[in-house]
Amino acid sequence: MQLLHQIYQVSGDLVGLTTDVEGAIWNDCNAYLVKTEKGLILFDAGCGDTMEQLYANIRYWGMCPEDIKYCFLTHAHFDHAGGGYLLKKNGVEFISGKETAEAVLAGDNRCCTYLYHKKFTPFKVDRIIADGEKVSVLGLEVEARLMPGHSMGCTVFSFTLGGKRIVISGDVIGTKLSGDFGWSGSIDFCRENYLGSLLKMVDLEMDYMLPGHGMVYLSGAKRRVEEVLNVALMEWRK
Ligand SMILES: [Zn+2]
Repeated sequence: MQLLHQIYQVSGDLVGLTTDVEGAIWNDCNAYLVKTEKGLILFDAGCGDTMEQLYANIRYWGMCPEDIKYCFLTHAHFDHAGGGYLLKKNGVEFISGKETAEAVLAGDNRCCTYLYHKKFTPFKVDRIIADGEKVSVLGLEVEARLMPGHSMGCTVFSFTLGGKRIVISGDVIGTKLSGDFGWSGSIDFCRENYLGSLLKMVDLEMDYMLPGHGMVYLSGAKRRVEEVLNVALMEWRK
């Protein structure tokens, strides 16, 4: 569905856009698509079993899945990166932080296959992006900030479109009504790092925040990050 000028949400079982298993609401992440004149940029790949639905959602809005040129990964968890190998077959170039790239290449427990009872098909990320680095793809300048905690590879991406600063937050900020934080069962979950990341995130410039699951924040984005930081400081600080 179209969210903003040039931005579409093309997957997410919690919001009913894609479904892999009847009744599942956390198996597939929110994947976002940015439409440019030169092609399409995807943020997260979904779990893979819903790829045809994701493609159908793209076609519904008059675009072609074959025009996806790049995919940025927020982290290596199965519900975000499981479909990566399918996109790689179509020649999509992947960009992620170092830890995420290592995890999806190994396809090991960092991809939390034990949560989904599925097999992760490994694939190679084409370009590693560092904390604070900016990369320009198809005319869009995307800035990466590493935000470890939910997983060690968690990365938040920011860019400006239509005069608005948009933040793709992955699982750093939990969706309202379902908890403040991302799932804590990852083998590389780290509360201390997570708190440090929230302290970084609260200073990020943002007009809109598009999270990895559930509701998007087209209003109150910054306020939501402040709320989550507040809870973390109260509950987690030693
Ligand atoms: Zn996750």
